[in-house]
Amino acid sequence: MDVSRRTFLACAATIPLAAQREGRAAPAGSAPRVAVVGAGAFGAWTALQLVRRGARVTLLDAWGPGNARASSGGDTRVIRAIYGPDRIYVEMVKRAYELWPTLEVSADEPLYVETGALWLHRGDDSYVRSAVPILEELGFPVEQIALPDAKQRYPQIDLRGVKSVWLERRAGALSARRACIAARYAFEQAGGSYRTAQAEPGPMANGSMSALKLQDGSRVEADAYVFACGPWLGKVFPDVIGDRVHPTRQEVFYFGAPRGSVRYEPGQLPIWIDFGERIFYGIPDLHGRGFKVADDTRGAAFDPTAGERKPSAQGIARARALLAERFPELAKAPLLSAEVCQYENSPDGNLIVDRHPAADNVWLLGGGSGHGFKLSPALGEMAAAAILRGSDVPAAFKLDRLKKTAKKKTQFES
Ligand SMILES: Cc1cc2nc3c(=O)[nH]c(=O)nc-3n(C[C@H](O)[C@H](O)[C@H](O)COP(=O)(O)OP(=O)(O)OC[C@H]3O[C@@H](n4cnc5c(N)ncnc54)[C@H](O)[C@@H]3O)c2cc1C
Repeated sequence: MDVSRRTFLACAATIPLAAQREGRAAPAGSAPRVAVVGAGAFGAWTALQLVRRGARVTLLDAWGPGNARASSGGDTRVIRAIYGPDRIYVEMVKRAYELWPTLEVSADEPLYVETGALWLHRGDDSYVRSAVPILEELGFPVEQIALPDAKQRYPQIDLRGVKSVWLERRAGALSARRACIAARYAFEQAGGSYRTAQAEPGPMANGSMSALKLQDGSRVEADAYVFACGPWLGKVFPDVIGDRVHPTRQEVFYFGAPRGSVRYEPGQLPIWIDFGERIFYGIPDLHGRGFKVADDTRGAAFDPTAGERKPSAQGIARARALLAERFPELAKAPLLSAEVCQYENSPDGNLIVDRHPAADNVWLLGGGSGHGFKLSPALGEMAAAAILRGSDVPAAFKLDRLKKTAKKKTQFES
């Protein structure tokens, strides 16, 4: 995008923002047109934030918001603020907590259920310790619980091998697939337009991209284009992204708690994270779905379009071994269901929010790396401000940093 084009988008966007503040509708024709490809958590929230700021937005998805192949397509996702020393994510979680309730759908089955998060460390707990000053400053209460107290408070958990226990009070579970559908609904209610369609980038010339090509041969023309394609981002942009977004196969299991028992429900048991050689985590039985157990270890490379989503015997055995050790009453609990999903890993585990280096009107969003869902309202807001007003994004999210860093630094990614 040349300077005049950037300025056009910035100017066009300020008109509706001013109008919004004064409660007036945006003047027709002045609002920038934005096409967003991908209606997972990142794309749906970005589209919603753009339309709330007065842009004319078309949202496209090949299979629909929160579909079964998408990384956002699972039943639940954790929201927590412990992020080691990474302050930027705690700030995003704080903002996300303010924005998630704007999607609330039903009081009977809310999108967010607060459970707290219990961090069980078999060894070094510096990931949590380094987060404490940031959490205190940003208003997220956290306490260390002495082992004897933890045993009394959580008799369902066998704490053998655990050296330290921390409770993060403000943490919980988000209903993932439902949230994507709710975001699309809120987007349409706010005046956005959604279509189920596969989209390809249009031709690029002179620093900008022209109309998207859809599978049926039609085109979508806009002033700016956003690609929030999750694990497909590398395939859509093989040169710029390629294997910098690396999808890995991840398995999630739901086990049946004993009949009539509430010991494995929210209120009795927080979300738990077991830091051993492998990191396992789980969510108490929410909305009757079952007791969730997941292994955070990166699995094999995975094709999000054609990959079979059948749980492996090895994965089930690992989850059962963890249950037998940590939740002995559930050692023989029946497996109720499973999800095979994929993490869309960036090389350093950080998000990607940046312009395409060869087209100023193209934005690439992704790299959720197993922890992006909770952040999506804040990411959408950040992206909308960057696209419409030229606001800067953190250096940690820019494509440039991928030339320098290779090693992932965070320990827990969900
Ligand atoms: C098992 C598992 C557990 C996780 N746990 C957590 C957690 O506890 N907490 C947390 O915060 N995060 C968690 N995550 C990570 C989080 O879910 C993802 O980072 C996030 O959902 C990514 O969202 P996205 O919108 O980038 O991608 P997606 O949800 O994959 O969305 C991309 C969308 O783009 C569409 N698309 C792709 N290409 C095209 C195209 N060419 N044309 C049209 N449409 C296209 C797809 O259909 C898809 O709907 C977890 C992920 C997994 C897999």
